[in-house]
Amino acid sequence: LDAPLYADVAGDIDVSFEFFPPKTEKMEETLWQSIGTLAPLAPRFVSVTYGAGGSTRERTHATVARIARETAIPAAAHLTCVEATREEIDAVAREYWAAGVRHIVALRGDPPVAGERYSAWPGGYENAAALVAGLRRLHPFELSVAAYPESHPDSPDAAADLDNLKRKIDAGATRAITQFFFEPETFFRYRDRVAAAGIAAEIVPGIMPVSNFAAVQRMSAMCGTAVPAWMGRVFAGLDDLPDARQLVAATLAAELCRKLYAGGVKQFHFYTLNRAELSFAICHLLGVRAKIGAQAAAA
Ligand code: FAD
Repeated sequence: LDAPLYADVAGDIDVSFEFFPPKTEKMEETLWQSIGTLAPLAPRFVSVTYGAGGSTRERTHATVARIARETAIPAAAHLTCVEATREEIDAVAREYWAAGVRHIVALRGDPPVAGERYSAWPGGYENAAALVAGLRRLHPFELSVAAYPESHPDSPDAAADLDNLKRKIDAGATRAITQFFFEPETFFRYRDRVAAAGIAAEIVPGIMPVSNFAAVQRMSAMCGTAVPAWMGRVFAGLDDLPDARQLVAATLAAELCRKLYAGGVKQFHFYTLNRAELSFAICHLLGVRAKIGAQAAAA
């Protein structure tokens, strides 16, 4: 898997960025600065997450609608099935359509109490596949769904997890964005299994730049992502050196993307955690450069 950094000499890499809805004015300011920094890279889309139990319903909507209104970047809204009836979810989706939002990342969501078994809300969509089918009936949205190279923790085995992805694609999703992972082989093996299952939809790797190793270890344990032993060794001794951690984070994620690119991957989705620098640096190392001026991006 040999490929130079600055791989995108052919200009054939497409990127997208994920944000979460800000809680405070200060966080809002950081988010908009980040969007301003990343927008000139002309991402295919930027997406905004939906908090557990619909807790960010208004904030997600406000953020997505503002991106749609004030930037030239296509905005995608995450939407989950948690604690809402079909009618309530359909109403949210209709509001998105009315606000000019044409792309939804359709998810089941997690149980409101961490660690409990998921059960569908009375009168709600039972899972992401059902949500995709419901949204498809509503409007001709572009629909993305989640995929799990290391299987979803609720899934009995890898084959059942793949069946579930197939149901989501068959219901009308056109793209799957993966849970984060740390070894390129994890993605390549998954891509092979997806192809062998006859799934032709685009599978976009979700890239999580790791700057807080302890937090990522906790998240990985919850979502079933393997953290390689070498990562612990890389981050050891950096607890009190945030700047060094950022540099290491950018290097590791750029290295992962470089190997993925060498293996034929041309699309990358970055979990930005609302900070532009890391994702921007990784894109830069990959050779992704500003395609449009900042003013045009904000037009
Ligand atoms: P589904 O695809 O519906 O199912 C997940 C698993 O449940 C399946 O693998 C399968 O094992 C099991 N399952 C579902 N239906 C069946 C069935 N009929 N029979 C048997 N097994 C079944 N969460 C949020 O709350 N907000 C977000 O904004 C958000 N964004 C995300 C973005 C991405 C790219 C990813 C990867 C995840 C995101 N999540 C988000 C997390 C996601 O909500 C959780 O991982 C959730 O537990 C599963 O959602 P899903 O859409 O993958 O569910």
